[in-house]
Amino acid sequence: MESGIMTANHVRSQAITEVLTRPAVQTAETRPLSETWATDVFNLTKMEEALSKTAFKAVKKTVTTGEPLDPATADIVAAAMKTWAMSKGAKFFSHVFYPLTNITAEKHDGFIVTNSDGQAITEFTGSLLIKGEPDGSSFPNGSLRMTNAARGYTAWDPTSPAYIMWTANGATLMIPSVFMSWTGESLDKKIPLLRSISAMDVSARRVLTLMGETDIAPLNASCGPEQEYFLVDQHFAAARPDLLLSGRTLFGAPPAKGQEFDDHYFGAIPERVQVFMQAFEEKLYRLGIPAKTHHNEVAPGQFEIAPYHEAANVAADHQQLLMTVMKATAAEHGFLCLLHEKPFAGLNGSGKHVNWSVGNATQGNLLDPGTSPEHNLNFLLFCGAVIRGVHKYGPLLRAVIASASNDHRLGANEAPPAILSVYLGDQLEGVYNDIKAGKISVSSDGGVMDLGLSQILNFQRDPGDRNRTSPFAFTGNRFEFRAVGSSQSISGPLTALNTMLADSLTWVADQLETQLEKGLTRPEAVAVVVKELMELHGDAVFGGDGYSSEWHEAAVAERGLRNLPTSAEALPVYTEPDVIDLFERTGVLSAVELNARYEVYSEQYINSIAVEARLVVDMARTVIYPAALKYAADLATTYAAANEVGISFDTAQVKIIAENANLLLSTATQLESALESHDFADTKAHMEHSATSIRGLMETARGYADALEAQVDDAVWPLPKYREMLFIK
Ligand code: ADP
Ligand code: MG
Repeated sequence: MESGIMTANHVRSQAITEVLTRPAVQTAETRPLSETWATDVFNLTKMEEALSKTAFKAVKKTVTTGEPLDPATADIVAAAMKTWAMSKGAKFFSHVFYPLTNITAEKHDGFIVTNSDGQAITEFTGSLLIKGEPDGSSFPNGSLRMTNAARGYTAWDPTSPAYIMWTANGATLMIPSVFMSWTGESLDKKIPLLRSISAMDVSARRVLTLMGETDIAPLNASCGPEQEYFLVDQHFAAARPDLLLSGRTLFGAPPAKGQEFDDHYFGAIPERVQVFMQAFEEKLYRLGIPAKTHHNEVAPGQFEIAPYHEAANVAADHQQLLMTVMKATAAEHGFLCLLHEKPFAGLNGSGKHVNWSVGNATQGNLLDPGTSPEHNLNFLLFCGAVIRGVHKYGPLLRAVIASASNDHRLGANEAPPAILSVYLGDQLEGVYNDIKAGKISVSSDGGVMDLGLSQILNFQRDPGDRNRTSPFAFTGNRFEFRAVGSSQSISGPLTALNTMLADSLTWVADQLETQLEKGLTRPEAVAVVVKELMELHGDAVFGGDGYSSEWHEAAVAERGLRNLPTSAEALPVYTEPDVIDLFERTGVLSAVELNARYEVYSEQYINSIAVEARLVVDMARTVIYPAALKYAADLATTYAAANEVGISFDTAQVKIIAENANLLLSTATQLESALESHDFADTKAHMEHSATSIRGLMETARGYADALEAQVDDAVWPLPKYREMLFIK
């Protein structure tokens, strides 16, 4: 730079140069899957090799049934785990846990201890494996902090395998764990998920037993989460304080070309991105994460990865790990990986579609309609239970996906609406409606079905039959919760789904029991129960256009569903009596634990908006206004000089710039004072202030700034523009 001073616009032009001249990425040698798969995971296969037959049997039982492990076996497992990890060069181990943020937390400890001669020996006992003790007060814990102690404990979750994390300089043994307070309350996202699976297992077992099943393996939920994300070259990101600190652009005029041609979706993946994906997936395979699909998404610069589905608890841990590995690998490839739900205004946002089903080893996937009548009956009950759950607890499902960032997406006419309904597809919706209308009846003499229930349900699955406007859609053998945000942990949604299902299956079991006691056959009883269920809860089923304004009106006015467009409205659902009752009854969360969640998530909501608002003020004053002013001064000088030689330019442009620059500054000042308000009746009122006043002013400021971007000389504009961030790879 001539002047020696790096001005903002130099940063931008230098970023463009850097990106265009960046050296090709170093490609690694590719190795066959058989050599990489799960090499860094201490899974059952490795345990079987390392443990005695008895110890292995005990661990396997714990992994498959969740039964506790005895301390003696834990010692044996710890020793084997340490030997395995040290053979890979690990000198440290860490409990990995999932606090009430969306991130993953770790506390590292060395295997090393020294003896009295100062010699290094290593130690890792069952008790170290089982229990760790990070400081609980450094993590968000809501009112649980009051309960007299800062202590928090992590405890090994043997149902999710330990693994090795590598850096260029070594290996660390990572142990998936739960995180609780000294008083035993859950401070994390894993404990309620595990409890919700047990609750679902108990009530599902009751239903299956009533349906005459005798051999019933433990039930579990499965999940295959699809992750959408954006990649932006780090040089651009480094010149955008908003991307760095808030993960999204708070300013930015729309580019001339956006996603209108639909030419990015499933288009050829840019080579640089594909090289990143392959490196990333190589790491996932080593970690035993079954990466299955990757492709371009709708917006330019947007992509998706989906692993194959796994048991919910493992899928949730793997999803967290996937986000960590994805960000780190992107950085190695010169990208900033954006998991924010709406990094760029005017373009599609990113979601995390949570595909979810429940089943076991004996009855299979209970959300698969299958072909045989008995299984169809089980299916009708389980799928019906999901419908009831969404109807009764739709607002809860909205609450568990509430966040400042996901609010930009929900209901924004490109993502699922904030009203929770179920999409079943024409055929299945028809079956349920026929049952509701009493069209499918069953003869009383021994369970032969008049209308051949089995044939009706023997429908063809059509993968093309999708409703992208539904927040919660049946997709052939699972439900797809599409409204989950791309940066969110999937544990909250999975916990809510399992819990509402547990509750509904208990209701189903009660009804079935009553009907069977009356002497009805099983098919008759199922028809009666499903009919009743549809009469009470069929209003949650909706197959139309979820984006339309007609639906928004009808859903609320005619069907009584709740529309909770912002998190300020959705988060208080955590404190509603029927939700507290649901979680207490199923043993998934106590009222205290729920309230702690409400407090933590509300605080996060308020804080995220405050951080963004402060950035808006800062960038408006110190980056955008000065650029506009300089250019306006330039123009004014030129006009004056031109006047002297008798040339007169139209001065409209400088006036527009002056007007927008003034308005930008005054809005920044208003925003600053809005941020200072603190007299709120309660947290909800504070959240509403953030959702409306603060967000409103941020939008207004953005309007002026984006108008300036459209007027100011491109050569002096300081911030990388949308076209650069989205199209230069
Ligand atoms: P889409 O067509 O919806 O984009 P993808 O192939 O990208 O589908 O992702 C579908 C996801 O659903 C995968 O993770 C897949 O493993 C998962 N899935 C398939 N069957 C089930 C199931 N029974 N339970 C849970 N997840 C499932
Ligand atoms: Mg999908």
